[in-house]
Amino acid sequence: MTPAAKIKKIYDLLEEYFGDLGWWPAETGFEVIVGAILTQNTSWANVEKAIAGLRKKGLLRPAKIAGMDTARLSRLIRSSGYYRMKARRLKEISRFVMAECGGKLSRLKSRDTAKLREKLLAVKGVGPETADSILLYALDKPVFVVDAYTKRIFFRHALTCENASYEEVQSLARGCFPTDTKALNQFHALLVETAKRFCAKKAPLCDECPLRGIK
Ligand code: SF4
Repeated sequence: MTPAAKIKKIYDLLEEYFGDLGWWPAETGFEVIVGAILTQNTSWANVEKAIAGLRKKGLLRPAKIAGMDTARLSRLIRSSGYYRMKARRLKEISRFVMAECGGKLSRLKSRDTAKLREKLLAVKGVGPETADSILLYALDKPVFVVDAYTKRIFFRHALTCENASYEEVQSLARGCFPTDTKALNQFHALLVETAKRFCAKKAPLCDECPLRGIK
């Protein structure tokens, strides 16, 4: 099977199994951005608590976070771990959003994806996975998000080598998968769900997994 055929098969099997997962769990594009920063090195459950706290206080807005006292922001997002560093990162990305579009994310959607990605990567604390998550889930840009789960599943199905870089995995998928935002959104969600339910780092549950027949 060619890599393109295998990737298509993986997508089809997972979609058949899980259905439409409707990611990302957020009410606004800016909330996606906040979630993408807070989820670094922690579980989503911890992120949800921090986001709920910010929402309750009406602070889930770039202008509010950009101008907030860092110590206060740190306290509010404490549940997400590494909270002092993440507070600084949230302020950086909020300032970026304010500077680039005055807080109106819809203005960024028509911008060139590659240039926007470059600018995002220049923001302190934004790496390739965070930048691509923001592009795809907050700005509807057609990019393939690579995370540790994607790398694990692709490696275990002989699509990439164990130490493949972010760019290697992304360019393989880019050449094989449609550049359709909805499908890219769904594919990332499907891979995350598969890894969480079946493809653990240790002792994967291959016998129960929808991808068990893919060699
Ligand atoms: S659990 Fe097994 S079959 Fe499922 S994705 Fe992981 S390696 Fe593949």
